[in-house]
Amino acid sequence: MAKRKKLHNIVQETKGNIRVFCRCRPLSKYETSSGYKCAVDFDGAKDGDIGILNGGTAKKTFKFDRVYTPTDDQAEVYADASPLVTSVLDGYNVCIFAYGQTGTGKTFTMEGTERSRGVNYRTLEELFKIAEERKETVIYSISVSVLEVYNEQIRDLLATSPSSKKFEIKQAGEGSHHVPGIVEAKVQDIKEVWNVLQAGSNARAVGSNNVNEHSSRSHCMLCIMVKAKNLINGDCTRSKLWLVDLAGSERLAKTDAQGERLKEAQNINRSLSALGDVISALAMKSCHIPYRNSKLTHLLQDSLGGDSKALMFVQISPSDNDVSETLSSLNFASRVRGIELGPAKRQVDTAELQKVKQMLEKAKQEVRFKDDSLRKLEDTCQNLDNKAKGKEQLYKNLQEKVKELESQLDSRMHSQITSEKQQQQLSGKLKEKEEMCTTLQQKLVELEHKLRQQDQSESDVAVLKQMIKELEIKLKEQEHQRSVAELKTMEIGQELLEMHRTESMLQIKLRDLENNLQERASLQDTNMVLDSTNCTIICTTGPGEAKAQLFTREEATSEGEHHILRSSDSVNKRVSSNSSVAEATEVINDKKRKGDASNPSIGGELENQPAGSQNAARKRSLQGGDPRVKRKSTEPHAKIPGRTTAATKTATATQRTAPITRATKQQPAANKTRGWIR
Ligand code: ADP
Ligand code: MG
Repeated sequence: MAKRKKLHNIVQETKGNIRVFCRCRPLSKYETSSGYKCAVDFDGAKDGDIGILNGGTAKKTFKFDRVYTPTDDQAEVYADASPLVTSVLDGYNVCIFAYGQTGTGKTFTMEGTERSRGVNYRTLEELFKIAEERKETVIYSISVSVLEVYNEQIRDLLATSPSSKKFEIKQAGEGSHHVPGIVEAKVQDIKEVWNVLQAGSNARAVGSNNVNEHSSRSHCMLCIMVKAKNLINGDCTRSKLWLVDLAGSERLAKTDAQGERLKEAQNINRSLSALGDVISALAMKSCHIPYRNSKLTHLLQDSLGGDSKALMFVQISPSDNDVSETLSSLNFASRVRGIELGPAKRQVDTAELQKVKQMLEKAKQEVRFKDDSLRKLEDTCQNLDNKAKGKEQLYKNLQEKVKELESQLDSRMHSQITSEKQQQQLSGKLKEKEEMCTTLQQKLVELEHKLRQQDQSESDVAVLKQMIKELEIKLKEQEHQRSVAELKTMEIGQELLEMHRTESMLQIKLRDLENNLQERASLQDTNMVLDSTNCTIICTTGPGEAKAQLFTREEATSEGEHHILRSSDSVNKRVSSNSSVAEATEVINDKKRKGDASNPSIGGELENQPAGSQNAARKRSLQGGDPRVKRKSTEPHAKIPGRTTAATKTATATQRTAPITRATKQQPAANKTRGWIR
């Protein structure tokens, strides 16, 4: 059964209808003592049915969402209301109001007492509880305002100082109404809530002599504003819950009010009528809902529309004395319950929504970016893992190597000690070697210095060699000149030989002539008998004269012989001219012989002249080269050498001058060479 009811409630909630709970208070002591009877039938209360006994047997039945009997306590009442109440935390505008005749328990249901707290306190208590439970996902900001509408005037019950200021209702945005200037007390926990509610309740009583009377003639409205920010999906909502303790709905006629009371009653009736009109208009789905006909409906506009949730507690008296008022209230409540407000809508904060959308877009971009970076990080993680594995392996290998190296190090330490000793020894040796090295370096420097000097001298030697080469070249030239001169001498010698041949030919011819002469002489001897006188004359004259005579004879004999004689004469003439040159050379030779003692250098030079000596030998050979000439005639013999000496004299003269010049030239050169060598 309970399950079915719960499901029904859920269905109703989804439908968005105004739910109506009927609560009947117990008969008061006064009523019981007065003998009033219970006119309410609670037999079908569990099914939401309530019957009103009107005048004995007549019973009128009403059906509501929930019917609470006088025995149902505050907790039970709130238990049914709590799902609706807590939907404010989900962003829905909610309105809970208590309607009914004065003294039926409206204030008791809404406010309650300290011992049995009402809907207001329990609602806030649960809101804080749920907010605490959801704090990981949703951040709630809860603030409270307490207003009173009395004679169509709004009064801020939380205002610290009393003010005559008139509060107006303003529309802040689409479907959002608020009262500028009223106190919105931010409450953090339930203790503050109780203080706030008490402050409001106390303020309600100010200026009134009779608290109950005053409270029944004004609407007490508690507004709980909830701002929610969903940390998961970024949703932001701004919703409000109206908890209204309405003024008494009793009819004016019954109270017989006059003056101020009448005015109060009229305003109360007007506002409650406006509430009924609004609900009727909503039921008829009218295009115009008369919210502004009263301050009450105007304030509740946001929570009485098609996009909000509403709950009405219709409070009734069980007394048969109040049956007419009870029926009036139940009729009103029945009308209200029939209204379908349509599905409720979440009150999304559009400005916040825009911000949230932007934030969401940013967040999405960030998420995308982070996804990318996450993927990269995962890749890098994978790489790092692989690297780490590789490094671990490397680490193990290195550890093994370290162990090996440590063992090697130990052995090397030992060897190092020994090597250090060796090093010390070697360092001693090294020092010695260094000393030696320094001395060697010094020596090297000296040697280099000497080498440089030697290089210098070598360069001098090279210069001298060059000069020697030049001199040798000059010498060769001179030798060449000398050989040329010798060739010339040879040519001259050949000429001389030819001349000798011609001479010998001439001598042969001369001999032939002499033979002819002798033959002629013999012929003459034979003819001597004939001419003896002529013969004696020929014998007494000189050979020259005879020769002349012969010539004259010869002229007659042959022309060729004459020619030969003439040429021989010319030769004789040349020889005679040369004989004077030979005599001059003889003088020079004498002078030389004499000067040999006084000028040995000249003699030395001549001795050193092989060409001259050769010429002299040639001269001797030429003189003694033809013994036939020497033997035959002394005169031509004397003349021939004279001629040859004249011929050689030119050669010797040239040769003699050449050595002298050579000697004179060579001497300073030789002196120079001697000076360079030194
Ligand atoms: P209203 O606000 O409607 O004028 P109140 O809330 O003042 O009525 O209630 C009038 C009296 O009835 C109070 O003394 C209250 O304690 C009492 N009362 C109302 N409802 C109940 C209830 N359900 N159980 C016990 N007492 C109640
Ligand atoms: Mg009251």
